[in-house]
Amino acid sequence: MNSQTVNVSTGPVQISKQVQKAFAASPISHRSKEFRHLYNDSTEFLCERFNAQKTYLLSGSGTVANEAMIWQIKLLGGKGLILSNGEFGERLIRQASRASLQFIEYALAWGEVFELQTLENEIEKNKIEWILFCHCETSTGVLNDFDSITEICVRNNCRCFVDCMSTIGTVPLDLSRVAMATASSGKGLASIPGLAIIFCNNTVVSSEQIPVYFDLGMYDKKDGIPFTLSSNLLKALQISARQKLQSNQFELIDEYAGSCFDLLKEKCLLSFNESRSKVFTVVQPGNTSTDLVVGLRQKNIIVSHESEYLKLRKWFQLAFFGYYKEVQLDRVFKTLQKVLNCPI
Ligand SMILES: *Cc1c(COP(=O)(O)O)cnc(C)c1O
Repeated sequence: MNSQTVNVSTGPVQISKQVQKAFAASPISHRSKEFRHLYNDSTEFLCERFNAQKTYLLSGSGTVANEAMIWQIKLLGGKGLILSNGEFGERLIRQASRASLQFIEYALAWGEVFELQTLENEIEKNKIEWILFCHCETSTGVLNDFDSITEICVRNNCRCFVDCMSTIGTVPLDLSRVAMATASSGKGLASIPGLAIIFCNNTVVSSEQIPVYFDLGMYDKKDGIPFTLSSNLLKALQISARQKLQSNQFELIDEYAGSCFDLLKEKCLLSFNESRSKVFTVVQPGNTSTDLVVGLRQKNIIVSHESEYLKLRKWFQLAFFGYYKEVQLDRVFKTLQKVLNCPI
């Protein structure tokens, strides 16, 4: 990657110079006062920006955050409903099955939209006590209806658990009505991957029956830091969250993501139309997708195409998860225009 490169992949994402510098600094002890200060500042900032009572940080990728959330669901007990309309919903179901959660599924084909009345009927009919779903289903870019689903949960006295991995930092979000939500440092918050983030409005439960690393009650008892946490990752996140969660970043990204969406739509390259999303899945017959990826790469634009589920379908993705300057996004748009207008 050179300085001209613009990364519009789903991760690792485009980071700022300040974040890169924080990551390269000498590490400090997670038991030091300075670390405690950094930890408190970062978690308080995240709580305040997303309207959550507590924020937990675990070492690991986003899947670790979902794992810890799933173990909390298990300890709270009751029968649940898991929604799935893509790769990441299916992963939640597989993780929940391994933890032997008691649940039914509302599973749709990739890219389909949940019927809210069906959802509510299922909750009532089956006496559902919790639900779990992905806010943005990253595989297709479909934004599941966060406001309506949380509303249904409140109305039915049902706890709501949400994977917000690709919406935290990419769309404005108020988490006050969910029990828990998950995120990661390496997506919309535009930092280095490696910190799993859990927002929580529920009292956490501790138990010796579950793996110690995923026991949020243990994190509570130790004021959030029971085990080693990387000061570099934390400092990088502290900086990236402040840079990324500014209204001018949201506006800039909205504008360019919207233009790229319109362009891709005009060329009939999108099967899952979701203009408000910040990740677009490009679906093309034959090998033309591969040619487009190569064309973009030659112009130093990085997109996602190497995930197993993307390779299998010959899809690629354009995601606006990072921290960008206007010139960078302008270059993405103009390059995309050029590459799409070339005869393939
Ligand atoms: C990225 C992502 C995850 C977690 O993936 P990791 O590779 O573990 O970071 C989970 N759910 C969704 C919706 C995601 O986009």
